[in-house]
Amino acid sequence: MKYSDLHRHLDGSIRMGTLVDLADNLGIGLPEDPQEITFFKGMGLEAALSRFAITLSVLQQPAAVRRVADEICQDAQREGLHVLEIRFAPQLHKGGSVEEVVDSALEGIQGRAGLILCGLYGESPAVFEQLVEIAIPRKGVVGLDLAGAPSPSHKFGMLDYADAYHNARDHGIGRTVHASEGRSVEEIRWAIESLHAQRIGHGTTLLEDHQIVDLVLEKEVLIEANVTSNVDIGAVECHAEHPIAKWLKLGVKVAICTDNTLLSQVDAPTEYERISQIPEMTPDMMSLCEANGLNGRFLR
Ligand SMILES: [Zn+2]
Repeated sequence: MKYSDLHRHLDGSIRMGTLVDLADNLGIGLPEDPQEITFFKGMGLEAALSRFAITLSVLQQPAAVRRVADEICQDAQREGLHVLEIRFAPQLHKGGSVEEVVDSALEGIQGRAGLILCGLYGESPAVFEQLVEIAIPRKGVVGLDLAGAPSPSHKFGMLDYADAYHNARDHGIGRTVHASEGRSVEEIRWAIESLHAQRIGHGTTLLEDHQIVDLVLEKEVLIEANVTSNVDIGAVECHAEHPIAKWLKLGVKVAICTDNTLLSQVDAPTEYERISQIPEMTPDMMSLCEANGLNGRFLR
């Protein structure tokens, strides 16, 4: 099996040893119980997102970002990954300018992975516009993402980011969106029709609307499946209940991804193995996922 991972968050995929090391150096106290750092089954998306506060606290400086980007590429090599894309929200790292933080990640990566920049649900559209401007001259930045989760308290919603996404498209920058992560399937329609998303992260509720399935098929949108992560946040009950096999039967393009190797305590070989054990999955379906992951990378 030729593994790929198109959806791996930098701040969720730091090594535990590095997290402890950086926290020690900074005098930051970590929870004594490692389970208070990582995800656990059925914890809910809000609780899961709050875990990033711990990893982000040690990743504020550009040097820490560089180190972790490098280590994630080393880990990927050990896992046997043929394609890797790392994503993060540089504006959350306050130890340098957004440009410096992005450059640090690229220095750590050294061409071994594509870098995707994440704006977050609720942020000002100006943040997204800035991320695109930073991406344009940096060919190592291959994509733009919308991450986190929407909230009724947010002033801005997905459609407010359309101009930035259009600008990304005009400059050949890939577009992906965290959508329908246990939420309304309409998010997938908005992401495709308004943000010109070529890929969707999660999409667990896709099958609730067959017109949207048709749209995904027509536009050949790839779903970045993060099955273990979906079980962790409670979007699906267990691996066997995940709709990944049903998607594949309908002809939807699906790639197997890890989301967060630290937080979900998973790596690519483990994730592929778990998905191969889902009763409806066949060896042919696994081969399709393999090809989708290898061919689904953003190219600039
Ligand atoms: Zn994600």
